[in-house]
Amino acid sequence: MSLKIVRIHNELLGTYGDQGNAEVLAYRAGLAGIGTQVVDISYRDVIPHDGDIYLLGGAEDAAQILSCAALSSGALHGAVEKGAVVLAICAGFQILGKSYFANGSEQRGLGLLNMTTVPGDKRYVGDIKIHSDLLGIDLTGFENHGGKTILGAGLDNFGSVIVGNGNGDSGVDGAVLGNIFGTYLHGPVLARNPEFADLLLSRAHGAPVKVEDSLADQYAQLRRKVVK
Ligand code: GLN
Repeated sequence: MSLKIVRIHNELLGTYGDQGNAEVLAYRAGLAGIGTQVVDISYRDVIPHDGDIYLLGGAEDAAQILSCAALSSGALHGAVEKGAVVLAICAGFQILGKSYFANGSEQRGLGLLNMTTVPGDKRYVGDIKIHSDLLGIDLTGFENHGGKTILGAGLDNFGSVIVGNGNGDSGVDGAVLGNIFGTYLHGPVLARNPEFADLLLSRAHGAPVKVEDSLADQYAQLRRKVVK
């Protein structure tokens, strides 16, 4: 079996280096003997429905609006209905909600997650550490956003904030719904937290994928100690 990893609008959602998440997934899948194909989809292209994992990264406001408009045709909705895994970071996470703010005005989101993003009281910049009950570990990253995300009914958060802000002042970060994962953690998050990569691979593979990579694990542990 080979996994198709779809990297969405890298030219718009690549500002914060989150495209590296695709490389980490492909590398770790390879260590587990699972083949991958990373497909870059420009905002001028049609999003394929047959992906196993879809990746969206962080962006500046103007690029975020453009990306969201290109996705409004519903291709991502079709993939989600089929059970595809989605990892969305920061701007990519915000556009999955019902609405978000960009360039000073409210924008309609894709409505895949029951949440809204409004302007925060400040810009949230710096190291972030969260605890994920789902993974049973702390995760570290870097956040840089102006938006504050409010989760609605039926939507779980991704983690509780230990250091930093995450969704804003609610003490939690991100959201999880089925196979959709959203978070404010840049890093790229999967490079800093390889356990999260393995969770996404397991979901896409339909069976547990546990990669032996002691160096990556060692560095992840080190980062957890440093961010405090
Ligand atoms: N433009 C969004 C905000 O400032 C997202 C920023 C980002 O993706 N880092 O909230």
